[in-house]
Amino acid sequence: MQRDRIDRLRQEHILPEEELYLLLSNYDEADQTYLAALADEVRREQYGTGVVPRGLIEISNICKNNCRYCGIRKGNSHTDRYRLSEEDIFYCLKKGYHLGFRSFVFQGGEDGYYSDEKLVPLIEHIRREYPDCAITLSLGERSKESYRRLFMAGADRYLLRHETAVQSHYERLHPQEMSFDNRIRCLYDLKEIGYQVGSGFMVGSPGQKIEYLVRDLLFLKELEPHMIGIGPFIPHQDTEYRGKPAGSLSMTLVLVSVLRLMHPEVLLPATTALGTLCEEGQILGVLAGANVLMPNLSPDIAKKNYMLYDNKKNTGLEAAEGIDKLNQELKRYGYHLDFSRGDYKKWSKNAV
Ligand code: SAH
Repeated sequence: MQRDRIDRLRQEHILPEEELYLLLSNYDEADQTYLAALADEVRREQYGTGVVPRGLIEISNICKNNCRYCGIRKGNSHTDRYRLSEEDIFYCLKKGYHLGFRSFVFQGGEDGYYSDEKLVPLIEHIRREYPDCAITLSLGERSKESYRRLFMAGADRYLLRHETAVQSHYERLHPQEMSFDNRIRCLYDLKEIGYQVGSGFMVGSPGQKIEYLVRDLLFLKELEPHMIGIGPFIPHQDTEYRGKPAGSLSMTLVLVSVLRLMHPEVLLPATTALGTLCEEGQILGVLAGANVLMPNLSPDIAKKNYMLYDNKKNTGLEAAEGIDKLNQELKRYGYHLDFSRGDYKKWSKNAV
């Protein structure tokens, strides 16, 4: 067992590269349990037993990109494309607000319709109607000027996973038109502008090696994001990665715990992909150190067609009964839903 190494990770929030490699390549069940116990302890010190729900609204599955792993890639002609109307979006917000949500994520493909001219008034409108809610965007790569405009319009946070910190691996997962450097540039721009920034990666994506995961951990340590989203890769039938194995549950959970120990204050969701891989995935994520859940508030058309990977889980949490059930479930394990904005602890909004 690697108790001494795990204790040092908890103390110092970092380990030398070789030791991170040894931890990820040699952990056993006892290590996994010990990591989860320490991560849970750290999360309780920082955020108590509250788990913040972030309502996910999938605004469009139209995308100009062709990421090889993604079900809504441009090249997938089997997807019915949709874009929510402003009315649809406000309907989802209203529903979520009544359920108690004070944090919303607007996610979509890189849909050319959403120019700044379209997004700025939309965000301003949401900000006016819901002044007490956190607005998170997850709309892919844009220019620094665009990110700045959306921030000034009222967006607080931005989610953009780096996907993999190894350039050659990034180039394997994405077509030539996409650039690793641009993705990283976006993340640093977002931070500089003053967003609470989320990044992250898939676990078990095709071609990934343990040393790449170590690079992901070291990259995140350098970036110091406010939020980190990780989930297992899950193949999609209409991509070239159909038939590839999904990422491992235990490796994902170990990484959730390691990330909690490396970034005590980070907002760390137990992701939908984790819940798709295994029925108890999201609860296991919370037990491993996660403190955010992202229930899907999208309307049915989006639920059906925002298929990033096969069998993407729909939890029924858009209904009041679903939320009660989730809360009861969390309470059985000693946690509860925390209906706050769920801001990063040391954050204040200072536009530049
Ligand atoms: N267009 C936005 C949102 C992308 S979808 C952007 O570029 O950020 C959100 C996340 O889903 C992606 O960042 C990716 O990590 C994840 N994802 C996509 N396809 C997946 C798959 N097959 N398995 C697991 N996760 C996937």
